[in-house]
Amino acid sequence: QAKSNGKNQYRFFDPAMAADAYKRLAMESELRRAVQEKEFCLFLQPQIALTGRKLVGFEALIRWRHPEKGLVFPDEFIPQLENSEHIVAVGYWTIEHSMAILQQLKLQGLPDIKIAINLTSHQFDDEKLGAFISDNLARYGLKEAQIELELTENTLIGDIDKVLTQMQELRKRGVSLAIDDFGTGYSSLEYLRRLPVNILKIDRSFVMDLDNDETDRQLVQTILAMAKNMHMDVVAEGIEKHSHIDFLAERGCGYGQGYFICRPIDELQLMIAIDKHLIDGRWLG
Ligand code: C2E
Ligand code: MG
Ligand code: MG
Ligand code: MG
Repeated sequence: QAKSNGKNQYRFFDPAMAADAYKRLAMESELRRAVQEKEFCLFLQPQIALTGRKLVGFEALIRWRHPEKGLVFPDEFIPQLENSEHIVAVGYWTIEHSMAILQQLKLQGLPDIKIAINLTSHQFDDEKLGAFISDNLARYGLKEAQIELELTENTLIGDIDKVLTQMQELRKRGVSLAIDDFGTGYSSLEYLRRLPVNILKIDRSFVMDLDNDETDRQLVQTILAMAKNMHMDVVAEGIEKHSHIDFLAERGCGYGQGYFICRPIDELQLMIAIDKHLIDGRWLG
């Protein structure tokens, strides 16, 4: 037995490691099935103009409807998917399904609504991305300006030339680019300045304690000043209280999303919520 050989010996069998490896393999095969069987769905969270509460769009947030576990959240499966070849297919599904939702919204009388789609590095790296978006927009009768791609700082610190080329191509088509979770990554301001990004999303960790934390208030004001200087729009995430809207709107933050405005909801709830909460283009909770 490995154990009785003493601490200087190799352990040939580590039950904890074996359990981990087993879990990983099981997850991999389940994800393969999920991709094949299209077990994913999108939840939508409204994004509004903080002054006036005009609805500008929705962020698409993926969920996995697992046959036994129920609804699984992206933090539990996107990292594993990112290590597999399936991530690219899931990204394309997300983009196309977002367009199907936009088409539905157009039928509901909302032709100019935007949808913000989250992409990982591998999804963003694909050379066919721009053409895929344009081809499908044409097919669905939608406009490039309705699509916003969200990328995190950590996704972007790869091969700068490659990132730049892809961004320029997408911007030329008229697609918007947003830096998600801004302020939590490792990129430098100098680096970001070189990228043709037109939206910054302030991470919710800076928003949640705005009432009590002077450092966070300073940080948010700094981000807003910088964004203004770079002619970027700002979306604040994680707005959970009315006081957050007041603070942000007073300091020039244009847009926001969060539980206080609306939680992410599925497509059916979305259509119901539009009837109930959307009044003269304003999202009234
Ligand atoms: P994210 O893009 O930063 O999305 C915002 C997350 O904050 C979402 O979590 C959302 O449900 C949550 N949130 C929204 N408002 C509030 C609030 O007021 N308070 C709090 N505490 N949380 C709020 P979710 O849906 O679990 O998504 C987690 C992350 O997974 C996303 O972070 C995004 O990075 C990633 N993700 C989501 N959908 C996709 C996708 O389709 N593709 C890829 N590649 N990644 C995705
Ligand atoms: Mg996002
Ligand atoms: Mg975010
Ligand atoms: Mg996040």
